[in-house]
Amino acid sequence: MKILLMIMFFILGSVFASFLSVVGIRLGRDESFIKGRSHCDNCGKSLHWYELIPIVSYLIQFGKCRGCKKSIGIRYFLYEIISAVLFSLSYYIFGISIDLLIALSLICILIVVVSSDIEYMIIPDQILIIGVILLLILNTIKNGIMYLGISIINGLIAFIIMLALKKIGDIMFKKESLGGGDIKLMGMIGILFNYQSIIANIFLSSFIALPYAIYITISKKDGIMPFGPFLSIGAIILFLFGLNNIDILDIIYSLI
Ligand SMILES: [Zn+2]
Repeated sequence: MKILLMIMFFILGSVFASFLSVVGIRLGRDESFIKGRSHCDNCGKSLHWYELIPIVSYLIQFGKCRGCKKSIGIRYFLYEIISAVLFSLSYYIFGISIDLLIALSLICILIVVVSSDIEYMIIPDQILIIGVILLLILNTIKNGIMYLGISIINGLIAFIIMLALKKIGDIMFKKESLGGGDIKLMGMIGILFNYQSIIANIFLSSFIALPYAIYITISKKDGIMPFGPFLSIGAIILFLFGLNNIDILDIIYSLI
């Protein structure tokens, strides 16, 4: 039974990613995500239903548009497969529970964030506002109304830490070190975390981003990279593996 539901969540994840990655890209360029059918970005050809099956369509078309033969970005395929795995994994870890609902909501919000940030280096405010409201509601259902204030304070702590890091970074590198979107994104993620996990998230994300940061500094003149995807990866790792309430002191004591 569990395996059947894991397959179901896998499919569900790919379907959500297929839709939400397009929402992210359209929000990023300020386009309505409701109007218009799905179409090829290159030749404008409307897509048939069989060209819209997540993961499968990309594979049977060998990653090319059937109209103009231009290759479809592999990123869509990656969003679908990664989200499918994350949905399935979340169910495996949490079972049917409020934590599963929070995990899936977080993944959905972050798909929109990541696709927009990678495409346009923009994290749309709309999705962050939806995210803040949704995560506050779900976290309150999970922990009770007394926890609402704590969730808000944790979000503010995350926001302030990122803002402080930006101010320090701007002075050190003499240019914009962190975007406003990254600061707001961490504020949203902070709702789910305690202050120690917030610091852990920022460290983990910076660590994962390091090889790419070095690569981009060497290869590009401007050296600009989106940080939103790395904050998102860090947040998902911490949440899925139950580290969203870690006590760093406990870990340090256990190492000594
Ligand atoms: Zn085309």
